[in-house]
Amino acid sequence: MKRILILLGPPGAGKGTQAEMLKNEFNMLHLSTGDLLRAAVKNGTELGKLAETYMNKGALVPDDVIFGLIDSFMVEHASESILFDGFPRNEDQAIELDRKLNELPFSVLELKVPDQSVMDRLSSRRVCADCGKLFSTSFGGISDGNCGVCGGKVFQRKDDMPETIAHRLDVYHEQTKPVTKYYRAKNRLLEIVGEGTVEAISERIRNALA
Ligand code: AMP
Repeated sequence: MKRILILLGPPGAGKGTQAEMLKNEFNMLHLSTGDLLRAAVKNGTELGKLAETYMNKGALVPDDVIFGLIDSFMVEHASESILFDGFPRNEDQAIELDRKLNELPFSVLELKVPDQSVMDRLSSRRVCADCGKLFSTSFGGISDGNCGVCGGKVFQRKDDMPETIAHRLDVYHEQTKPVTKYYRAKNRLLEIVGEGTVEAISERIRNALA
């Protein structure tokens, strides 16, 4: 049966990493609004140009832009299992998603990571411009500024600069954290400790979903 999962958590909580595991194990499509927006920015579309002004500041992109992206994805993949990553980001988006899911059952996973760990993880995060592989300057894998997997140029996202991270965290606490309360009240929320090894966190997620 079609399955719907929603992955919540602060920026840098490891949502993208755990999404890889979930999509492979549960045969789901991974819908990351951040990835869709970054692709639009890279392609220089009108939507991308607009979104970039918000993203570079660490602010949320307006809801109507996000709903447009979500709508076309959900229409195109109406019969498939979907893993939402980075959406919903505020309570209005959660209400709109409820409307779109129209009584379909779904679970919400919240990866819980303290602010200081978010700061440390994001300020050391680097990404390959070619293959998108994520690295941490604390763990290696980058050689002379190039990706250890495909050789592409490795860079730091503008929104991973320390001032922007602080703002993204404020936005998370003010706008996205209330979404966890919204789902807790609906008995949908599964809380996962988001610290430890990638494998340990994956195991907690599997247990929570079992
Ligand atoms: P992410 O990769 O999920 O951290 O998203 C990167 C940036 O894209 C965020 O800081 C926002 O500017 C924007 N963004 C991603 N998803 C959403 C969303 N659901 N609503 C509004 N803005 C979003």
